[in-house]
Amino acid sequence: TPEIVVENVSKRYKTAAGETTPALADVSLRVESGEFVTVIGPSGCGKTTLVRLIGGLETPTSGRLRTNGTPITGPGPDRAMVFQEYHLFPWLTVRENVEFGLVEQDIDESERADRVAEMLDLVGLSDRADAYPSELSGGMKQRVGLARALAVDPAVLLMDEPFGSVDAQTRRHLRGELLDIWAETGKTVLFVTHDIEEAVALSDRVLVLNGSPGWVRDRIRIDLDRP
Ligand code: ADP
Ligand code: ADP
Repeated sequence: TPEIVVENVSKRYKTAAGETTPALADVSLRVESGEFVTVIGPSGCGKTTLVRLIGGLETPTSGRLRTNGTPITGPGPDRAMVFQEYHLFPWLTVRENVEFGLVEQDIDESERADRVAEMLDLVGLSDRADAYPSELSGGMKQRVGLARALAVDPAVLLMDEPFGSVDAQTRRHLRGELLDIWAETGKTVLFVTHDIEEAVALSDRVLVLNGSPGWVRDRIRIDLDRP
């Protein structure tokens, strides 16, 4: 069954001048449960907008979005996001950052502790649980971002250029780790990048979002399905 369905979605942002600017035009796609799909496209083609729409952080101007058959009306614990700029809470430790979503979900303290320990083990950061984000390298920060997203046990992981702020060597390491975690957890992953090498290295199915600066004039063009 499809986990994510996007049907004829368009998005225009309001600008300061009271006009609107197009960010996505008539995009349709579906991602099956357990699939790892990468979306590539040049800067400005609407990748971040697409991820934010599926994450429920934006509403479409037209079209429909569904997750597991249910219309997307806002953020939900079934869809966790990982951002390029980490978006960790600087005043919280690694442990507290990973625990954050669990506190919101009203899960009791001992279960939370177990869950956090499990996630930190999964991303190889058990020994840095009491560190603050400022004490970590970029790669470590993104491991925390990933652990925080996975802690709430979402069905879908939405990743927006998650390795865009780390050096090339760390990026290759993180790719491998992400694929191992995907294989282990069976999550549905939608991964956005502008790097075709990264897209091909990560997934069997690559969706291409094509546009030109300021005006998204096209939609998904190539869909390299599994042989
Ligand atoms: P990237 O190309 O790395 O995805 P951008 O620089 O396009 O990132 O966008 C970074 C952030 O700024 C995003 O949250 C995006 O929604 C916002 N943003 C981008 N363009 C505009 C704009 N013209 N007006 C207001 N916010 C914008
Ligand atoms: P990408 O992630 O592919 O770089 P974005 O989704 O960030 O693309 O942006 C798509 C288009 O929408 C760009 O032209 C960008 O400037 C514009 N845009 C993005 N966010 C906003 C915003 N909050 N307000 C106005 N325009 C925006």
